[in-house]
Amino acid sequence: EVRVRFAPSPTGMFHVGGARTALFNWALALQSGGRFVLRIEDTDASRNRPEWTEGIISALDWIGINGSNPAFEGPYFQSAYEPQHREAVAKLLADGRAYYCDCTRETLVARTGSEHRGYDGYCRERGLTQGAVRFRTPDEGVTVVEDLVRGNVEFPNEAQEDFVIARSDGSPLYVLANAVDDITQNITHVVRGEEHLGNAAKQMLLWPALGATPPVWAHLPVIVNEQRKKLSKRRDKVALESYRDEGYLAEAMVNYLMLLGWGPGDDREIMPWSEMVPLFRLENVNSASAFFDEKKLRAFNGEYIRALRLETFEERCAPFLDPSWDRELFSKVAALAQTRISVLSEIRQNVDFLFLDEPVFDQASWDKAMKNAPEEILTGYLERLETVSWDPESLKQALEEVGAAQGLKLGKAQAPVRVAVTGRTVGLPLFESIEVLGRERTQERLRAALA
Ligand code: GLU
Repeated sequence: EVRVRFAPSPTGMFHVGGARTALFNWALALQSGGRFVLRIEDTDASRNRPEWTEGIISALDWIGINGSNPAFEGPYFQSAYEPQHREAVAKLLADGRAYYCDCTRETLVARTGSEHRGYDGYCRERGLTQGAVRFRTPDEGVTVVEDLVRGNVEFPNEAQEDFVIARSDGSPLYVLANAVDDITQNITHVVRGEEHLGNAAKQMLLWPALGATPPVWAHLPVIVNEQRKKLSKRRDKVALESYRDEGYLAEAMVNYLMLLGWGPGDDREIMPWSEMVPLFRLENVNSASAFFDEKKLRAFNGEYIRALRLETFEERCAPFLDPSWDRELFSKVAALAQTRISVLSEIRQNVDFLFLDEPVFDQASWDKAMKNAPEEILTGYLERLETVSWDPESLKQALEEVGAAQGLKLGKAQAPVRVAVTGRTVGLPLFESIEVLGRERTQERLRAALA
């Protein structure tokens, strides 16, 4: 049985990179009838916060990774397993695979004459009974991490120092706790970020020493921004939550994240999750860094928005509209908006003119639109609106004629009318908007603009 895990540390907002790792694991579990274990690695008490843990769980839930599917197991909390971690340290000590060490940085530097040299094995045979605990690494040969993404990665053992697995206060280190939990939870595939490859070299030694067969490894490529720099929370918008709050659809996000390092093998890109799951293969994950292209994500999101049933689109927009705004009125323009927005939060600026007593004007748009004979246009159109038949085609024709009288093409003549009616220079198709707004309200706005 395939058992994978996702093991985030709750030390910050949940990152899109974490979401990609979680999705790859989730796909593996689902395609094989296996299990996905969520393990919160909360052993660094000084950096953890309960709200980060909640954020992880709710973000995973948003992208469809949750307990409503029986493949989901957990969450487990690493801190609850400290007794097992300590037991493992004790076993390694008893087996002679680990030893106590009381060297400090200073004594080590004094002995080796270098700040950068690794641990020199000084305490290996000293038979100490307390101190930090170091794992005895082989002096010769190589440790090979057989990685499904990166191929065989070799680590010469002479370069691997006897690393610390427990501090002198007895508390186990991350690299040990992580391996012990994977062993206890019967994990078969460890799929995680590339930054953990060095840990895998140590864990390749720890697993057998703890009596277990190492898992299948897969270290996923880093995700980079436009400048080809690793995505970082200081430079980039990385929190999954901020995409959710801006009105990205979970389906689009999932689709896009799956393509960060993987593809179905043909040139398809827009593809529902259910079709990706059976096709996903770790062997096909690219080891080169993956570019997180926000523009492309936006385009994906637009596609997903357009594919929604109109009714669903309206529901998804609801959180971005004022609760007091009339839903029936919104329904009249929803279809027009659906083809034009790329993120749901953009709905507001497209439709607010319908609900507000006066449109929200911005001066720059106003000035720009009012360059060509605006008064003549507005006055002329106002007059025509008295009698014109109230449908987009007639509304358009009327403005065409008013414009022509001033020597203006429709585009130019539309600008002041659009700003007067909607407050903006771009938006939904103008004549459909006017039709929905109604004769009286449109006339009111044109008068107000002329005043
Ligand atoms: N807790 C580690 C992290 O958040 C994950 C380690 C692992 O997946 O093995 O980076």
